[in-house]
Amino acid sequence: MKVLKFGGTSVGSAQRMKDVAKLITGDRKIVVLSAMSGTTNSLVEISDYLYKKNPDGANEIINKLAMKYMGHVEELYSTEEYKQKAKELIKSHFEYIRTFTKDLFTLFEEKVVLAQGELISTGMMNLYLNECGVKSVLIPALDYMRTDKNAEPDPVYIKEKLVKLLADNKDADLYITQGYICRNAYGEIDNLQRGGSDYSASLIGAAIGAEEIQIWTDIDGMHNNDPRIVQGTSPVRQLHFEEAAELAYFGAKILHPTCILPAKLNNIPVRLLNTMQPDAPGTLISNAIEKGKIKAVAAKDNITSIKIKSGRMLLATGFLRKVFETFENYQTPIDMVTTSEVGVSVTIDNRKHLEEIVDDLKKYGTVTVDEDMVIVCVVGDLEWDNIGFEARIVQAMKDVPVRMISYGGSNYNVSLLIKASDKQRALQALSDHLFNNK
Ligand code: ADP
Ligand code: ASP
Ligand code: MG
Repeated sequence: MKVLKFGGTSVGSAQRMKDVAKLITGDRKIVVLSAMSGTTNSLVEISDYLYKKNPDGANEIINKLAMKYMGHVEELYSTEEYKQKAKELIKSHFEYIRTFTKDLFTLFEEKVVLAQGELISTGMMNLYLNECGVKSVLIPALDYMRTDKNAEPDPVYIKEKLVKLLADNKDADLYITQGYICRNAYGEIDNLQRGGSDYSASLIGAAIGAEEIQIWTDIDGMHNNDPRIVQGTSPVRQLHFEEAAELAYFGAKILHPTCILPAKLNNIPVRLLNTMQPDAPGTLISNAIEKGKIKAVAAKDNITSIKIKSGRMLLATGFLRKVFETFENYQTPIDMVTTSEVGVSVTIDNRKHLEEIVDDLKKYGTVTVDEDMVIVCVVGDLEWDNIGFEARIVQAMKDVPVRMISYGGSNYNVSLLIKASDKQRALQALSDHLFNNK
């Protein structure tokens, strides 16, 4: 069985929902849906007002959003019976959201509010499919998607519960479920972070040993650079799991950073496809390696670099351990590392404990911090015995100041650290040089 995930834009209007319904009918499959586009942002805004104890501000957005949904209902369903059913569904969710304007609002309530977007979109789609005569069934994510005490998905629990839910509904033509939402180890409603529906799809794919996981979005696959800021990008037709994971982690928004791992561990191919252009080939992510090719570039913003220079030096046993332990003590992951005879530079994207970390590091050397940096990640077959590949990357960056370069950590990437203000021209230069023969 295949798992198909449709993102917010793909289900962003009544017409889009109808288009998706056409795409998913046929063979039995699991369909994972995001909230309609803009909904989760509105729910975040509502929560923000409620944190600030401004119920009027929250109610204004709730009313606007509810009205929008009533409009979608009129357009989506053709019979009075289903319009009525859908209106009741929407009314019940918005009435529930309104209950939070009257009481204490904490992180727990926020998670419940944020979950409503996916609950509404899947409910609407299921009703629409039923109206069209399709025997679809809603499989509630809150009944099987779960994280453990470390806030990591619990694959054993997910598999056990999901397999049972599917078996209980084995006569269904189609299974519809929510992306993004889950329960935590204590059974409370939680989520897999913004953009996490991709992760839901790959966790589901892994749990059922899917034949393929398809991520349907608003673009024809992974492009070789960020199409939002670079001109002349084009789709990459094939990626290795590791290449896709690097690109997702280093900022290619089309994929949630953690989404590749479950698919890779279970060797399930992931296909990125375009809902607006369903016949386009998209991108296939699998175990296959295309030799001798630089594939794509991505960039991760809001990076801070920290240099620790020690007169007494790196080779002194334990220096690196002490440096790394300092970050570990504050639960701050390190992204990039470069070393020299007299020091080490690392990057982090979580600045929460920056001050304490810097303070502690001063025990081991002179500390310099550079803020507002960007990691540019170039991905492809970058095995060290391929001659000239890293040279082409460095050549492309000849007019851009580069703070750090990391090469050799894997066979798949070269990372460069630059200033945020140089990001656009650096990405464009890499595209022109590596892909567009300029
Ligand atoms: P969805 O709502 O379907 O999950 P997202 O907005 O999360 O969709 O991801 C799709 C968007 O990712 C595209 O519209 C595109 O602007 C952006 N994007 C960023 N980098 C890339 C890339 N390298 N290739 C394709 N799309 C990218
Ligand atoms: N609806 C959630 C979000 O907007 C999850 C997702 O779309 O993947 O972040
Ligand atoms: Mg997304």
